[in-house]
Amino acid sequence: MKKIISVMMVMMLTFAFPSQVSAEESPTLESIADSIIEITTDNTNENPTTTYNNIEEFVNEVRNQIPDIDDLELANFIMDYTGQDDLEVADEETLKYLGFKEIIVSEDYIKVDDAGNTESMTQDEMTLAMFRDAYGISPLASAEWNSPNGYMQIKTVLSRETGVLKDGNVGYQIATYGIWKKIPVCYYRDLLALCYTGSETRIDNSHEIYGKLEETIYCCQKTTNYKTQVWNNEGKDPYYTNKNVIVQSQGGGNVAITFQLMSTTGFQCNSGAQNHAKRVASILSYMSYGIKVKAGQNFEIQGAYAHKRLPGGNIGVSVSYKGIGLSVSLGGHIDKYIALQQGYTAYK
Ligand SMILES: [Zn+2]
Repeated sequence: MKKIISVMMVMMLTFAFPSQVSAEESPTLESIADSIIEITTDNTNENPTTTYNNIEEFVNEVRNQIPDIDDLELANFIMDYTGQDDLEVADEETLKYLGFKEIIVSEDYIKVDDAGNTESMTQDEMTLAMFRDAYGISPLASAEWNSPNGYMQIKTVLSRETGVLKDGNVGYQIATYGIWKKIPVCYYRDLLALCYTGSETRIDNSHEIYGKLEETIYCCQKTTNYKTQVWNNEGKDPYYTNKNVIVQSQGGGNVAITFQLMSTTGFQCNSGAQNHAKRVASILSYMSYGIKVKAGQNFEIQGAYAHKRLPGGNIGVSVSYKGIGLSVSLGGHIDKYIALQQGYTAYK
């Protein structure tokens, strides 16, 4: 009996102590982030804007407490922590997130109906509207995405870079995501644009323009991924070449990427089956580049997405002080998904 008790004592000690000790001795990225990164939310607009501060302090503290941390793992964690887990971007792009002080994320949810009418809504309103499209009109609608209405989330990210530029400017990376929640049934060529405005704001040509597109088509119980990413740097090859993606930098605050989408109509899955139930499972796009703003000056950034349902016409982008404008040449038609213009003041 005495022996059993002593064995139990040993077991209790074994189970009781390690969890307490390891909690102190093994800090995790989450525990360090939760104690250092400061999160504030601005509810001025329909959808909240979230600021993640002390990113630089977080990176330094992780390197102190977890000296053998992998740079890519840490950078990926920062992207996930700031709500950017939708799309896997290139390692080079991910690693840039180690060099920021502060990351500000704003979100827009936009519906465009068959007649081209645009409606901005909250995330909850979009979920409800999509449900009504799917089940209020036809029970088959959700499986085939055959509603004429399009639903898109545009996420815009402003990241303040560490280090003060010699010319008194503040460096930022600006990025935007175009994420289809539900795509209209017909589509051909699309454009994701990101513009900046502000009298003391310039593009930073030392920072690459990066673009990424991922499209997933589902057919005969199989998914097929089409991925492309591009840089404006001529020395660097695109990682994937099976999609036509082009960076457009027209100056004057306007940078865009255009891409040809793989339509389900033209898609062949090679299974030989009849009556293929094809659908687009997802389309995600992302782009980023650098800007420099004179300290103390106001500036704005804005993301937008143009969707062309039919082949005709070329998509154009323009920028005025009011923000981004999307147009299409004669014979074409586009749906416009335009996020709110977000205003900031540059500080070091
Ligand atoms: Zn098929």
